[in-house]
Amino acid sequence: MNRYLATAFVIGILLFAAIACKSGDEQDKADKATQAAAEAAAKANPDNPFFHPYGTAFGMPPFDRIKTEHFLPAIEEGIRREQTEVDAIVASAKKPTFENTITALDHTGLFLSDVNAVFGTLQGAMTNKDIQALARQTAPMLAAHRDNISLNAKLFAKVKAVYDKRDKLELGREEMFLLENTYKDFVRGGALLDDAGKARLRELNQALSLESVKFGENVLAETNAFQLVIDNKADLAGLPPSVVAMAAVAAKQAGLPEGKWLFTIHVPSMTPFLTYSERRPLREKVHRAYFMKGDNDNASDNKEILKKIAALRLEKAKLLGYPSHAAFILEQNMAKTPERVNEFLLQLWEPTNAKAKEEAAALQALMDRDPKAGRAKLSSWDWWHYTEKLRQEKYALDDSALRPYFMLNNVRDGIFALCDRLYGLKFVEKPDLPRYHPDVQVFEVLEADGRHLGVLTMDFHPRASKRSGAWSGALRRAYYEKGVRVPPISTITCNFTSPTADAPALLSIDEVETFFHEFGHSLATLFSQGRYRGRTVARDSVELPSQIMEHWVLEPELLAVYAKHYKTGEPIPAELVEKLEKSSLFNQGFITEEYLAACILDMAWHTAADPASVDARQFESETMAKIGLIPEIVPRYRSTYFNHIFSGGYSAGYYAYIWSEVLDCDAYEAFKEKGIFDRATAESFRKNVLEPFGTEEIGAQYRKFRGADPKIDGLLRKRGLTISK
Ligand SMILES: [Zn+2]
Repeated sequence: MNRYLATAFVIGILLFAAIACKSGDEQDKADKATQAAAEAAAKANPDNPFFHPYGTAFGMPPFDRIKTEHFLPAIEEGIRREQTEVDAIVASAKKPTFENTITALDHTGLFLSDVNAVFGTLQGAMTNKDIQALARQTAPMLAAHRDNISLNAKLFAKVKAVYDKRDKLELGREEMFLLENTYKDFVRGGALLDDAGKARLRELNQALSLESVKFGENVLAETNAFQLVIDNKADLAGLPPSVVAMAAVAAKQAGLPEGKWLFTIHVPSMTPFLTYSERRPLREKVHRAYFMKGDNDNASDNKEILKKIAALRLEKAKLLGYPSHAAFILEQNMAKTPERVNEFLLQLWEPTNAKAKEEAAALQALMDRDPKAGRAKLSSWDWWHYTEKLRQEKYALDDSALRPYFMLNNVRDGIFALCDRLYGLKFVEKPDLPRYHPDVQVFEVLEADGRHLGVLTMDFHPRASKRSGAWSGALRRAYYEKGVRVPPISTITCNFTSPTADAPALLSIDEVETFFHEFGHSLATLFSQGRYRGRTVARDSVELPSQIMEHWVLEPELLAVYAKHYKTGEPIPAELVEKLEKSSLFNQGFITEEYLAACILDMAWHTAADPASVDARQFESETMAKIGLIPEIVPRYRSTYFNHIFSGGYSAGYYAYIWSEVLDCDAYEAFKEKGIFDRATAESFRKNVLEPFGTEEIGAQYRKFRGADPKIDGLLRKRGLTISK
């Protein structure tokens, strides 16, 4: 589990997409009309790269030629084209078949999804005032467009006609899965509502699209607004030289004069400060700024916005016949109901809370012995600091002694080596391919036999233009065009520790785990082999491909390959590895507690009876009091900056990480049984889980790989928990 993961993965919502499989004259006529319209649009936009073949290797978006003003006309054109494609399906006089309706729909909207993928990438990693304004302008346009498709009664009638005779069609497994999910998506999108219901649903979707954009913007503004400028060396007390050097670089980049150090509430700056700073009042200042984001009663306050989002979602769920937003969402997941999720979370909560209390007591005892603490009571801004001290005392393990062994590019090459041993993949750097920022690394990914599999881009360090957290996305997802695979372009975006004047980027263990994690999502994107573009992934299984990768991070056999000292090239000493292993359960109470608290908060907002009428701050504190969250721990995300659930795709789904962890811990057991680099096990994982991810029910996929349903034991062992079953 990664502590600061942001919305990690675009969940496989069914994509609607262009080549209607009509036949004969009708087909020709439609094709000609479409082509003529495309040519006219290209002529009208001679300098807009979206309207012309990119002409780049692997169809990489030509970032060097794309300007912000190119997006709006391209999005408008994309909407128009997709609507035309949908209209052609509706207008066909033929009896609806799987081919002329479901396959045809699956192919609509390619142009729009290409443009949106580029726009979404920049919105997350390279935003500015113009892009933000454009997102506010296009979000409601796109929401209306989606509604125009899912509320199109004639289109739904065709889909339903195919769906109703599905048992007689002799469809393959993948086709049946696509058909059922296409139908379900229409129903969940309001197709069965009367006209008044449809009109209200449109209004709700419009409002929701706008509020989520606003919420995310506010979090970014609040994250960038705080600066701790230190101009007095005494206030650097306790900070290791590498952290001081990083703060000096940050100050310089911010245009501050020589002799000043800058700390922010971006995680790579904040965590080392909270860990090492001896200045308790400064630690408090920094941590408060972090956990009060969006809760400062200023122009970027999110309290009213999040209540509005929760209330709009509730109204939408009720309109569609569900008692809550959580019930609406969870129907699609492995867990199925809010009751099942809450039961699962509370089952883990009890032993976790006991552990966290023990940890707090141990930290308090340490603090009591520290004359600098002045007999103060342990607070949230002390947790990192005394945990690090205790870790050093118990295991003689020090984060800054580890970092030199985790130079960013070495870690990257370690992941490449792992992918080579498991799947035979090769990664070739492509310095000439276009990218949106000079820091972005671009690699071609090749199969063992040299065939092209896809492209991977990686963007590692924080910028003011980048959303916080780490995520894997795509500039293009794989699909088939006339039987030929169109290869994907996957992206990884992180906020890892930056290089300094005298050292390259040296990662913390958390960051190394995050890197492996996001790489796992990207592998699923790269391997994807479904025949159709429409994917339906149960959200609570989405972290299986990513979290399984984390299990290799500390395997001594792999550490020997990549954990080399950045100066001497010496491999990480065995005793350091041993210490790491011994300390693997250390601080697990905290890690699990802050995470579970956020999961429970998410479920509370999305099962609340009347979220519009509550006081957001009070609602949160009452929810936390009910489960007995200890005051020394703040939920990993408080409501006002919980991007995952209020502006990303994880609403009523933040629990997905730990639910998926049951799967990944159990799946990794298969590797441990056969050998952690066993090719046959890796091949089976690729063929049964990663390639068809989202084209089949996950339980069935999993059983093909493992031969049985997953057991919870591996997860409990990993987190050091015992539950009464
Ligand atoms: Zn993830």
